[in-house]
Amino acid sequence: MQYISTRGDNTPRKFCEILLEGLAPDGGLYLPVAYPQVDAATLGRWRKVYHEQGYADLAFEILSLYIDDIPAKDLRALCQKTYTAEVFGTGEIVPLRHLEDGLWLEALSNGPTLAFKDMAMQLLGNLFEYELGRRGEELNILGATSGDTGSAAEYAMRGKKGVRVFMTSPQGRMSPFQQAQMFSLQDENIYNIAIEGVFDDCQDIVKAVSNDLAFKRKYKIGTVNSINWARLLAQVVYYFAGYIQATTDETQKVSFTVPSGNFGNVCAGHVARMMGLPIAQLVVATNENDVLDEFFRTGIYRVRGSADTHETSSPSMDISKASNFERFVFDLLGRDGSRTRELFGPQLASTGQFDLSADPLFKEAAARYGFISGKSTHADRLATIRDTDKRHGVVIDTHTADGVKVAQQVRKNADQAGVPMIVLETALPIKFAATVQQALGRAPERPAKFAGIEDLPRRVVDLPADVAVVKAFIEKACA
Ligand SMILES: *Cc1c(COP(=O)(O)O)cnc(C)c1O
Repeated sequence: MQYISTRGDNTPRKFCEILLEGLAPDGGLYLPVAYPQVDAATLGRWRKVYHEQGYADLAFEILSLYIDDIPAKDLRALCQKTYTAEVFGTGEIVPLRHLEDGLWLEALSNGPTLAFKDMAMQLLGNLFEYELGRRGEELNILGATSGDTGSAAEYAMRGKKGVRVFMTSPQGRMSPFQQAQMFSLQDENIYNIAIEGVFDDCQDIVKAVSNDLAFKRKYKIGTVNSINWARLLAQVVYYFAGYIQATTDETQKVSFTVPSGNFGNVCAGHVARMMGLPIAQLVVATNENDVLDEFFRTGIYRVRGSADTHETSSPSMDISKASNFERFVFDLLGRDGSRTRELFGPQLASTGQFDLSADPLFKEAAARYGFISGKSTHADRLATIRDTDKRHGVVIDTHTADGVKVAQQVRKNADQAGVPMIVLETALPIKFAATVQQALGRAPERPAKFAGIEDLPRRVVDLPADVAVVKAFIEKACA
C-alpha cells in the first residue's frame, strides 16, 4: 500500500514513512492511493474473527490491508498489546448499548482518559515506540491542548522508549478533572507545561517552535494531531466492530451518527464505507459551531474566525475549521489534487470559504457518500441528557448528546426508519460533569480508578507565553 497527498504530490510513500509525519510536504493530507475493497465473504470472516478472537485481531485484519512495511506478526502483536480488556474495560472493547428501537450507542470511551481519542492514540503510542526503536531514533512530541487531545497523547506515550511529550495548556483553564488527569502523571518522559495565557497562546508557541526548522530538526520535534493518518486508520476498525455487533449477516445496512469537530472520527467512517462496509448514512452532528453542517446542507464551506467560534458545553467540538475535511473533499472531487490544492490553499487563505453548491459532484454527495448532517445546541444537549437518563437510565456526556439529538431527528425521516442507527459515544459524562449536573441535578458517576485524582501530587511547570523560554525548557529536558 502506498500513500499520496490530497494536494497533488503523488510521490508514493509507505506507511512507516508517513507514520511520524503531519502534513505532506505540499501542505496536503495523506491518503492511500486506493481503498482496499472488502467483499461480503471477507466481512463474514471478520465477523467470526471479532466474535471468536476479539477486537485486536479484527484490528490486525483491517490494518494489515494498509500497512505492509511492518511484519505481520509484529503488527498483530502491536494490536494485541493495545486493545486489551485491562485498558479498555471490556472484552468487546467497543460494546454496543441498546437505547431504543433501532438506536444504539457504541462505547468508545472506556480507555485511560475516558474519551474516544484513546482508541487511536493508544495504538499510535505502540506504533511510535516500535518504529523509533527500529530506526534507533527519538521523537519529542510538542503539543497544545485545552483538554482531551493532550491527555490522550500523554496516556498513550507515557513510559514509551524514545518518546518525550511536551504538552502546553492554558494555565487554570482546563477543568479540574482534566488538569488532574494530565498533571498527576509522574512518568519521566511526560512534561506538562502550563502557559500563562489562553489556548491560542499555546498554539502560537507550538507553531513558532515548529517553524524554526533548525531547532525542529536538532530536537526531533513532532506532533500527534488529528490529521495523522495512523490515527484515522485506527478509528476505521470500530466502524466494522459496530456494524458486526448490530447485524447478523452481511446483507444488512446500518447508519452511524458521529459527534464531529475536526472531521477525523467521521472521516474514518467514510473510509470504512469506501472499503465496502454496508453503511447507509454517515450523519455528521455538530454543536453551535456548525461549519460542517452548513457545508453538507449548502455546499458552502466557510471557516470561522476566532470571534465567531463559540465556547460551548461540548467543547471538544468547538472548531472554526475542520482539519481532516480536506480528505473527504479530495474524494468528492474525484481525487483531483490540483483542484483540492486550489480550494484549500489560495482560495481559503484569501476568502475564508469555497462554494461547491453549483457543482454536480456536490449534488451527488449525499447519494454517493451517504453524508447528511444536523446540529444541536446547549438547550438540546440538556434536554437530550435528561431524556436519555429518564427513558433509558443511561447518562451520556454532552458530545454524545449532540449525536443522540441529531440521530433522533434524522430517524424521523421515513427512509431512515428501518435502518439501525449507531451513535458513537465520544466521552464519558464525568469529563463534562458541570453540564451533566446542570441537566440532571446530580453529579455523574466517576469510575473507581479516578477516585480522588485531584489530590494526587502534580508534575507540571508554569512558564510564560514566551517561545524562547519554552525552547530552553525543551533543550534542558533533552540534554
Ligand atoms: C475530539 C472529540 C470530538 C470530535 O472528533 P473529531 O474527530 O475532531 O471530529 C468529539 N467528541 C469528543 C469528546 C472529542 O474528544
